[in-house]
Order: sequence, then structure tokens, then C-alpha cells
Amino acid sequence: NPPSTYRGRFAPSPTGPLHFGSLLAAFGSWLMARHAGGEWWVRIEDIDPPREVAGAAASQLDTLAAFGLQSDAAIVRQSERSDLYQAALDRLLDSGQAFVCHCSRSDLADDGGVHRACVATQARPDPAIRLRVAPGTVVAFEDGLQGTVRQDVAAEVGDFVLRRADGFWAYQLAVVVDDHAQGISDVVRGADLLDSTPRQILLQRALGLPTPRYAHLPLVLDGDGRKLSKSEAAWPVDPAAPLPALRAAWAMLGQAPMFDDIASVPILLETARLTFDPSRIPRVPALPLAALHNTHVTNAD
Ligand code: GLU
Repeated sequence: NPPSTYRGRFAPSPTGPLHFGSLLAAFGSWLMARHAGGEWWVRIEDIDPPREVAGAAASQLDTLAAFGLQSDAAIVRQSERSDLYQAALDRLLDSGQAFVCHCSRSDLADDGGVHRACVATQARPDPAIRLRVAPGTVVAFEDGLQGTVRQDVAAEVGDFVLRRADGFWAYQLAVVVDDHAQGISDVVRGADLLDSTPRQILLQRALGLPTPRYAHLPLVLDGDGRKLSKSEAAWPVDPAAPLPALRAAWAMLGQAPMFDDIASVPILLETARLTFDPSRIPRVPALPLAALHNTHVTNAD
């Protein structure tokens, strides 16, 4: 069972400025936590230097502060927590649940990149470490918004990476270790991570850890039905204009229109906290941005 006190979190990767999709995850997880009378913690997931942008973590935190979304605990940075990840990895290696793997991408290409057994043609100086996923491993869980989610991890994902060949920690390992170490009871995040959750549950089981509750918020799609991304110049949220973006996120979360006369972030957040109704959140994996045009709320542009 998850920890009994509600503790949620927002865990951005510092790969760029906060965009509208991340604001939705931040605000949505904050609202769920406050609605439950719980805590909300921010964690910076800076374990992938090749994808990171200098100054992005500071900019994301500044934007969150401008939006009034403050962590209830000191902000943790994954780059400072290698010892924890190493300890978890050692346990998995010692118990034989993880193994050293010399396979390259091209070794696995025949199987669509899915690792079922080592087929490496040569030893590498820098092997990866993977979690063994037994044939037939299917994970099902009840998502707070998306209903029953089921994945045949063995067939769709295979043995997955815990430490990459380039030496960096895999997101799946770090997120599981930290959600547990921080006592997170409820993970509320974007539905882009729905298909990572079964892997995280398998890792929790392998490490003997409880599984938190999960709720995956709808992703925001652009006019062509694609996920909003930086390259499409999504909609970076402007820290100088938090109110329109908060109103837009509120509308995307399916909440009743309001706030026309609200002129300050603290009042908006307090009103939101008091009137938030989680049962109104659309129970779908994705929503077109156009859904916003059906409300009286205008966007930040
Ligand atoms: N750091 C991940 C991301 O920004 C999110 C992790 C999570 O919420 O589990 O995509």
C-alpha cells in the first residue's frame, strides 16, 4: 500500500523552459494534493545531461514561483542522488534481477529494439545494466483517471535499461527510487508517462517497494492532433503573465469556468483549491488544445 499521508510531486526534467503541458502537470498535481489536504513536492530530474539545457532548472523553478506553485519541501536534485540509485541497482544485481548487457542498438534492431536475451556480437567497454523481465510478464494497474491500464511488458518493452551504456541512470530507476525515498503516495503526471508506469511497478516489485497511486492527466494536443512539443513552439508559459495560463490550465482540467474578476495569483490559487473538483477532469489520454476555444477563457498569446 502507498504511504497513508497524501504526498504528491512534480518532477520536471530541465530540458527547456516550462511549457503549457508541464504547467498542466504541475497545476493538476498541485490541485489534487491540495484537494486531498496533502503535500506537494518538487523534484528536479537532472540525470540526463545530454538532453539538458543550461539554466533550465532555474528557469522552471522561477516560473513555478511566479505561478505560486511552491514546493512544500526542499527541492531535491536527482544529480545529487547517485548513491541511492547505485544501492538499488546493487540490490537488483545481487539478487540476479538485473544483469550486465553488452547489446548495442543494432544488435536489437531485428527484434524492434526489444531486449529478450543478450545477442551481443562483441563485448563493450561500457555495458548497460537491465532489469530482467520474464516472458509473459503482464502488469495491470488501476489509474485514477485512465481506468484499468494493462501492458504486456515482456512483449512490448522487454528487459529494460536501469543504467545506460553512457553511464547515466535511466529515468525508470531514478523515479522509482525517489518516489519511494520521498514517501510519495500519489503520482499525478501527464499521460505521456502512462506506458512507463508498468515498468515502474515492476521495479517497485523487484525492490520490494510499495506502489503509489497513479493518475495520468490528459496530454494537450496541437491542431493536428500531435503532442505539443518544444520544436512546435508549443506554448511556453510566460512567468510575467501567470493568470491567463493558470486559467487555461484550469479549463483544460475540465473545471467550471470562473476567475474573470480575479487579478492575483494567490487569490486564483486559493479559489482553485476550494472549488477544484477532480471528477471533472477529462478521463481521456489526450485533448486537443481547441477544447479551450469552447470556454470563455482566452489564452496567453
Ligand atoms: N521527469 C519526467 C519528465 O519531465 C517526469 C517524471 C514523472 O513525473 O514521473 O518527463
